[in-house]
Amino acid sequence: MSHRILLVEDEEHLARVIRMNLQLDGHVVRHVATGAAARGALGDGFDLVLLDVMLPDADGMELCRGMRGAGDFTPVLMLTALDQTPDRVAGLDAGADDYLPKPFELAEMRARVAALLRRARWLESSPPSPPKADDAARFGEAEIHFDRHEASMAGEPVSLTALELDLLRYFVERPGRALAREQLLEDVWGVAGSNTTRTVDNFVMRLRRHFEPEPGQPRHFVSVRGVGYKFVADG
Ligand code: CA
Repeated sequence: MSHRILLVEDEEHLARVIRMNLQLDGHVVRHVATGAAARGALGDGFDLVLLDVMLPDADGMELCRGMRGAGDFTPVLMLTALDQTPDRVAGLDAGADDYLPKPFELAEMRARVAALLRRARWLESSPPSPPKADDAARFGEAEIHFDRHEASMAGEPVSLTALELDLLRYFVERPGRALAREQLLEDVWGVAGSNTTRTVDNFVMRLRRHFEPEPGQPRHFVSVRGVGYKFVADG
């Protein structure tokens, strides 16, 4: 079965070998070499992330913690040269699902990837916990059921990533309030003190494409000049 895998690794040679092996197993692999590029790519609906801990511009563990803080539970397999128990524990504390010390056998890497993908599939197919009260939002022609991870626009189903859903919830729970990009990054993505705010713009653009009748003339996800965005329910 083919899956979409994000490979975050700055060692070019190693990245090439990993990518080739995963492709041989039928997976679609996107490779990025920096933490910034990884943050931009996360949320694009990957089935698995292979994450190097030591990146030129970021700490893989921080990156993983940020993902989990933002409600992104894509399986993460961490790759690191630090083959020491405290680091292993730290990696798992950061929210990684598994951990592979370098150097590793490619067969082992492929087996761990397969195991994580199997587990993720099993989790998806297991019965959901009982739903709470109506955990839904409606504006314009949009209807979102957060508990069921379902959305529709003018009656047509819209498929959202976990992060899109999180951002949407953040907006609809704060109608009419100007929200700074930095604040959104910190609260929704769990990324503090960063100025990579382009991610926020990209995601707001996605929400506009999903839920604005005219994405070029937004009425619900409105720009606030010099600040960020605000959500207007009856725009
Ligand atoms: Ca590295």
